[in-house]
Amino acid sequence: MSEPLFDKVAVVGLGLIGSSIARGIEERGLAASVAGFDGSDDVRARARALGFCALIADTPEDAVKNAELVVLAVPVGAMASAAKSIAPYLADGAIVTDVGSVKAAVIRSVGDELPASAVFVPGHPVAGTEHSGPEAGFAELFEGRWCVLTPCGRSPEAAVGKVTALWTALGSTVETMTPEHHDIVLAITSHIPHLIAYNIVGTAADLEDVTQSEVIKFSAGGFRDFTRIAASDPVMWRDVFLNNKDAVLEVLGRFSEDLAALQRMIRWDDGQSLQDHFTRTRAIRRGIIDAGQDTPDADFGRPHGHED
Ligand code: NAP
Repeated sequence: MSEPLFDKVAVVGLGLIGSSIARGIEERGLAASVAGFDGSDDVRARARALGFCALIADTPEDAVKNAELVVLAVPVGAMASAAKSIAPYLADGAIVTDVGSVKAAVIRSVGDELPASAVFVPGHPVAGTEHSGPEAGFAELFEGRWCVLTPCGRSPEAAVGKVTALWTALGSTVETMTPEHHDIVLAITSHIPHLIAYNIVGTAADLEDVTQSEVIKFSAGGFRDFTRIAASDPVMWRDVFLNNKDAVLEVLGRFSEDLAALQRMIRWDDGQSLQDHFTRTRAIRRGIIDAGQDTPDADFGRPHGHED
């Protein structure tokens, strides 16, 4: 147990990320109390049954009343309505933070709904899984991961320091950058990879010469790893693409040019260029393993041999 960093923390949105934050704060004793709220009756009932928040409130008002920190953990497209629902009930000096995967658009939409006096420290934990809902959350989700904070005009240094202390206590390393830089970095490292996975899985499903059962049977050839990413939450990812449009389209332009270059190498039997390219990309994989961001185990640590 650590020293509590906060008196009361409220988490709005109790899915994968919100429930993981609530669990992490409670398990580590980082707040005197944690209250949760979710817009869905069903999610609130499931959260109560799971028992990870001392209070699952039936209204945003009851959740955020007297809270020192409010964490918005709803899909990016719902950030404005979540901010609007809590705005009248925020305690004086309360810090609002968020976990949205897109930053510039969220700063605009949340900023429009919060009172002028409100303190807002935008953030994005770069940690997640392809699962959603309160059952998917776990306290260790943020351990060994990065959390990006993108302070804006209403983020005083002391508030940035408190949010940094929270993420550090949850096991993450915090990096600060501008919202625009965040959005372009995440476009290439997260958003475009998801788009590619959604695309290739869709293409495989639509191929006429290959049957569905063949796609599943031979999926260990590489396809299987795309299907994990393509199983990610449809609402969350719809909102990411609609709200990080400019950065995604810019990086997608570069991606398409590079894909066309690979296409040309194959067409012209340019084996040397293909090999050079694949050698360069292999080094990037090694860098990720060396940085402790993935396991070096073959096949992502999946068991080999017979599974009986
Ligand atoms: P999730 O599991 O789908 O949970 C989101 C929850 O918010 C749902 O229970 C949803 O209820 C609820 N909600 C929607 N609108 C609301 C509102 N206005 N007020 C209160 N509750 C509301 O999603 P998640 O994966 O935790 O993602 C949450 C946020 O974290 C997103 O902004 C996402 O970009 C960000 N993020 C996600 C990941 C990841 O890998 N999943 C990683 C980092 C950051 P309904 O389902 O009934 O709408």
